[in-house]
Amino acid sequence: MSAKTAPLHTPSELDLIGCNDRTNTVVFRSTSVSRPERPNVTTLDTITGAILCDCQGATTGRECWHADHIVAAWHQSPAMQAARWLSPVALVNQGRKCAAMVATYRQRVGRPLQDDVTALVAARSEWHRRAARAAADMPPAIIAEARAIVAQQEAMGHSDHALDAGRSGLTAYYDARDRLATLTLPLSA
Ligand SMILES: [Zn+2]
Repeated sequence: MSAKTAPLHTPSELDLIGCNDRTNTVVFRSTSVSRPERPNVTTLDTITGAILCDCQGATTGRECWHADHIVAAWHQSPAMQAARWLSPVALVNQGRKCAAMVATYRQRVGRPLQDDVTALVAARSEWHRRAARAAADMPPAIIAEARAIVAQQEAMGHSDHALDAGRSGLTAYYDARDRLATLTLPLSA
């Protein structure tokens, strides 16, 4: 449910103050008009979309405009803007590189660099956004057909067979493989 006061506010009023790569959550702070001494803290789960806000409106079951703007605020962050323009392969490489950096720092000095954590959470968030959209775009029958094409081509050793089958076979193979990759490439640390 959208807050009546949402149009009076913008995503830029929310400041990103933290990311957690173990929960894939991002935390934003915003100034509270009713309680200037205590800012509001709003958390977004970038995978499930769940939102938690400690403002008076949210905690008393009334309206919370932060929930209306937090997703846009996250997508406007520099880390998400950078992830958005990466190719599928570059996005997965970026996610894996960040995951390796986070793991290395956590092991050696006890905690990872915040920039690495932010970039990792952004890569996962962007990957999930694309996977969800690709899945929504593709009817199950098309997914099954793409899987069948990939399995068949790979079983036959795709390059030789694709040459025989000609350009359309090759195109169908790469198209199916790319679309499947969007759906199935894992990005967990
Ligand atoms: Zn709120």
